[in-house]
Amino acid sequence: MKKAAVKEQDIREYWQANDTFHASVRNREGKKPYVFYEGPPTANGMPHAGHALGRTIKDFIARYKTMDGYQVKRKAGWDTHGLPVELEVEKQLKISGKEQIETYGIERFIEKCKESVFTYEREWKQFTEALGYWVDMEDPYITLDNSYIESVWYILSHIHREGLLYKGHRVVPYCPHCETSLSSHEVAQGYKDVSDLSATAKFLVRGTTDEYLLGWTTTPWTLPANVAIAVHPELTYVTIRQGNEKYIVAEELAKTLFKGDFEVLASRKGKDLAGFRYEAPFSYVKINKGHQVVLADFVTDQNGTGLVHIAPAYGEDDYRVVKDNGLDFVHIVDGKGRYTEEITPLADRFVKDCDVDIIKLLAEQNRLFHKEKYTHSYPHCWRCDSPLLYYAMEGWFIRMTDVKEKMQENNQQVEWHPGHMQQGRFGKFLDNMVDWNIGRNRYWGTPLNVWTCKCGKEKAPGSIAELMQEAIGPVPEDVELHKPYIDQIQLRCECGDAMQRTSEVIDVWFDSGSMPFAQYHYPFGDKKLFESQYPADVVIEGVDQTRGWFYSLLAVSTLVTGKTPYKRVLSLGHILDENGQKMSKSKGNALNPTELMETYGADALRWALLSDSAPWNNKRFSERTVAQAKSKMIDTFSNVFSFYQLYQQIDQFNGERDSGGVQSTLDEWILSRLHNVTKQVNDYLEQYDITNAARELGAFLDELSNWYVRRSRQRFWSSGMTEDKRAAFSTLYEVLKKTAQLLAPFTPYIAEDVYLQLTGSSVHLTDYPKPDSGVINTQLEKDMRTVRQVVELTRAARNAARIKTKQPLSTLYVMTEEESVNLGAYLTTIKEETNVKEIVLEEKEGLFIYTAKLDFAAAGPKLGKRVGEVKKALSQVSQEQLGDLLKTGMLIITEDIKLTTKEVLLEKVPSDHLELSEGSGITVLLDTKLTVELKEEGFVREVIREVQTYRKELDLPVEKRVNLYIDASSSVLDILKNHEDMLHQNLVLQNIYYEKQKAAKAVQVEEEKLQIGIV
Ligand SMILES: [Zn+2]
Ligand SMILES: [Zn+2]
Repeated sequence: MKKAAVKEQDIREYWQANDTFHASVRNREGKKPYVFYEGPPTANGMPHAGHALGRTIKDFIARYKTMDGYQVKRKAGWDTHGLPVELEVEKQLKISGKEQIETYGIERFIEKCKESVFTYEREWKQFTEALGYWVDMEDPYITLDNSYIESVWYILSHIHREGLLYKGHRVVPYCPHCETSLSSHEVAQGYKDVSDLSATAKFLVRGTTDEYLLGWTTTPWTLPANVAIAVHPELTYVTIRQGNEKYIVAEELAKTLFKGDFEVLASRKGKDLAGFRYEAPFSYVKINKGHQVVLADFVTDQNGTGLVHIAPAYGEDDYRVVKDNGLDFVHIVDGKGRYTEEITPLADRFVKDCDVDIIKLLAEQNRLFHKEKYTHSYPHCWRCDSPLLYYAMEGWFIRMTDVKEKMQENNQQVEWHPGHMQQGRFGKFLDNMVDWNIGRNRYWGTPLNVWTCKCGKEKAPGSIAELMQEAIGPVPEDVELHKPYIDQIQLRCECGDAMQRTSEVIDVWFDSGSMPFAQYHYPFGDKKLFESQYPADVVIEGVDQTRGWFYSLLAVSTLVTGKTPYKRVLSLGHILDENGQKMSKSKGNALNPTELMETYGADALRWALLSDSAPWNNKRFSERTVAQAKSKMIDTFSNVFSFYQLYQQIDQFNGERDSGGVQSTLDEWILSRLHNVTKQVNDYLEQYDITNAARELGAFLDELSNWYVRRSRQRFWSSGMTEDKRAAFSTLYEVLKKTAQLLAPFTPYIAEDVYLQLTGSSVHLTDYPKPDSGVINTQLEKDMRTVRQVVELTRAARNAARIKTKQPLSTLYVMTEEESVNLGAYLTTIKEETNVKEIVLEEKEGLFIYTAKLDFAAAGPKLGKRVGEVKKALSQVSQEQLGDLLKTGMLIITEDIKLTTKEVLLEKVPSDHLELSEGSGITVLLDTKLTVELKEEGFVREVIREVQTYRKELDLPVEKRVNLYIDASSSVLDILKNHEDMLHQNLVLQNIYYEKQKAAKAVQVEEEKLQIGIV
């Protein structure tokens, strides 16, 4: 294990030994609950980067709300049922499809499913623990448990009693590979752009030999199942002659359909076509009632021919129009999506692969008018990626359309993050809601608890007790609520017959949508507990759950209680790779969160996820982002703490006992910043703006490390415990403690590590810090911010002039636009930071020189031919004259030519030896002239640096006073002797000897060779 991971492992062991997680929940007993629902993952796949984001945000919210005073129970959950599990087992057993499952044996198959469900449970637990996600995994809800299923039954029974569960025929999306239908919200998860063929086929009008109805379809494979042609009653249709044939099409589309000459023979309304009989292009299937023109409002003249081919089994509109007209229903596709044997040339082939063959067959019979490639968004199975087909099927539906308005109202109560989800993606989805196709013709799932009788009666027992009561014969006490066991139980019907359970299992999304109730075995379990945990204050999942869990939770809750199950939804974006591509195993661009945590630590991963961008945005993410989080944030905090610890041990400082001292401005400043940041962070988190809270803290750590600690170093070096040193210690102690608390929900490990070492107790059992406005000093913060900016700008100027930091310079001029800033009190600080002898806070004459050019566009017309003359004069004007121009707005070139400021382009450049740098309303000018004295001082600084480096190499205790031996040329020694004070100020020295010491180290400073000895 890498170092970061080892340290975090130690903290984890501390949490386990002290049961800190549960203590943090117990700690808030009797406090207001903040209710959190865990969206159950499936444990038969490995966790990926998206899970790391979800779990980080969940943990963040729960830890923060706990510290903020709420009790946040966190029950884990596992989603265990459904097709994914079955498909995995099929793969494992090397079988495929329902036939082979039944040959293998349903009971054995179900047992395999149960085993497979927890394949990666260990990995999930390790991942969850490593990430620091505190969730109660010892007592999770599991959707396959009898108690969970019993609650789901209770809910479905309730829905059945309300008359909202019905068996119907509906055209539903169907996956031919999984051999089951899908619900509309499942379909919504798998749209892909594909290229397909559309066909315009010729349907011969009965009784003619050359007159055709042109029927259009985007699914040529359905043509052998044609039953009717639909036209719009109010559209105008024309009969057209072209060549030897006649065609009937919508008038509007004739020009698009026919190139070249054609003749219009007749024109009539669609309703006058009704009842026209025709011969379909294919006659594999015998039709008794059909092959005639019918009327339908959904037909338009916007595309195709204005006549629509109707195959009732494969489209919702088709199904309805055929039913309304009492025509035949034809089905030519088997359960695996293949043509039945009646379709002789194509029998047993997957229908969607046969569009080209159908078009060829049409062409061979002279029944093809036109074909065209087109690209459209087509639904694919979200699980196995097969293209879906639309079939008319018998199935069980929940009448969601009856509660649509209630759902919409409930959605209005929810606080969405991001806010646009409410009316946007989620709201629109609700607007287009259809009935929920709840049954699945599969094996591994919650059995649909409806028993039916031949007499037409239905029963939906809502509990095991009810099941036992209604059953014919005894039901074992420990009956398992799964296939095939449950199918062996028959119920007694009022008519005297036996009732059989309908064979379906239910949609897994209904399982997970029932979790607010089923996780506490409602209404059989602890009702008080349920009531205290309903509804949720927050649910947090990826945006793809809009049509998944967010929907199913709202649907189930609205059906059961009429209320919304959550007050707030945090909908998270996707994790993308560096190039903005979706991560996927197959593309090889997927990041492994476990590996990242091992290399950089969970704190770094969490910080990267939390601070990078708002959680609802899609994130471009890479290993580099995590590496940066570690070096910029985690290491910074850790280094500041190490610095404190080093001196705390030397001086035996005790943060609680020894507090006090006389605070410096620097202390006041960092405490003001601490409380100001505390206020900002609290404000942001109140609005769930985690990213900006993280950024405030990141900026604060930079100020703490690169300003407060760096500028306070010398205070810690002084010997003895002065009042100034005491204040420095107390301040740093206070800041570290509070910062650890502020960081606790973000980076729980390092926060715990620091807090534990400072106080001996867990940071996660403390209250989240609140600001003390009395400590906030905005003027001081503003001043210090300006000082830091001045220093930054001066460094930039130095870099631009290529002068080393160690080289002292004479003067720095500072001009600020902001008048309320008081830099006068910080001149020493600025001098030290910039290594400049004198700071001048006002603009003086001569700092800038002006150059002037003629603005031809403005002055040209006025000057005419004299332009050249004026241009020349302008290049020779003096600085005084330009100064006058600025003052009076007028420049006199000759007696008769005067220029205004508008006609002259004035450029202001720094005078020689001055380097300019500006930004944020601040201008600095650095005098870069080097005198002999300045050069000598720069030389001495370099020597000091060499001595410090050598000291470090010798690994001497920082507080140890040493004797320094220096040998060099006499001119160098003269310089050093002249600056002995400086050597003493900067090096912890006893004496300086200008002679060679035995074990001396040879160094080179500029052109000079020196021998340094330290004893
Ligand atoms: Zn599928
Ligand atoms: Zn009956």
